[in-house]
Amino acid sequence: MRRRAVQRTQGLLLLVIGLTILAGILSAWRSARAGDNPSWLSALLGSSGWRIGIVAGHHGNDSGAVCPDGLTEAEINLQVAERVAEQLRALGATPQVLEEYDPRLRGYRADALVAIHVDSCAVDLTGFKVASLSGGSQEAERLATCLWDNYEATTGLPRHPDTITDDMRYYHVFRQISSYTPAAIIELGFLSGDRAFLTEQPDRAAAGIVAGLRCFLETPEP
Ligand SMILES: [Zn+2]
Repeated sequence: MRRRAVQRTQGLLLLVIGLTILAGILSAWRSARAGDNPSWLSALLGSSGWRIGIVAGHHGNDSGAVCPDGLTEAEINLQVAERVAEQLRALGATPQVLEEYDPRLRGYRADALVAIHVDSCAVDLTGFKVASLSGGSQEAERLATCLWDNYEATTGLPRHPDTITDDMRYYHVFRQISSYTPAAIIELGFLSGDRAFLTEQPDRAAAGIVAGLRCFLETPEP
C-alpha cells in the first residue's frame, strides 16, 4: 500500500514538472510571436529575431519634397519602407513601419532604426547620403557606414555627401528614441535626377537598406 502511494506521488510530481515545462515553452513561443523573443528561441525557430524600426519619412504628417507633376517624396518613402519591412520579415525579423511623428518613437527600443527620406525635386542632382546623430554613439556610426557601403553597392547610385544638412545630422527622431537604439537616416536619392530609379526600382532601393542592416546586425561589435 505504501509503495503505491509513493508511486502515485512520483507520478503527480512528474505531471507537474511536465506541465511547467510545457507552460514555459508556450509562453516563450507567445513572446516570440510578439517579437521580443529570447535569442535561444530565435535560434531554435530559425529566425533572426531582430526588431527593427523603419521611419517612412513625412508619412502621416506632410508630403515632403514635391515635383511639379505632383510626385511626392512621402509616397516614395512609404513604398520603400514597406518593401524593407517585407524583406526583413522574410529574414525572420520583426520590422515596424513608423510615421514621421509616430508617438511610438518616444523612447523607442530596437536593434536598429532607419529613417527613409528622398531629396528635392528642384535641383538637378543625383546621389544618396546617410547620416547618424552628430556626436552620437559608435554603434550608430557603424550602422551609417554599413548603409553607405551596401546601399551604394546594391543600387549603383553615387554618394552625395555635400548635401547632408543639419536636419539630417540632428534629425528629430534621433533625439526622441532611446539612446540605446542605433539609428541612421538615409536619403535614397534626388526626386529629380534619380526619379526613374526611385519610382521603377523601389525593391532595389529597399534591398540596399536591408543589406546595410544585415551588415550592421550580423557583424559583431568591434
Ligand atoms: Zn524628407
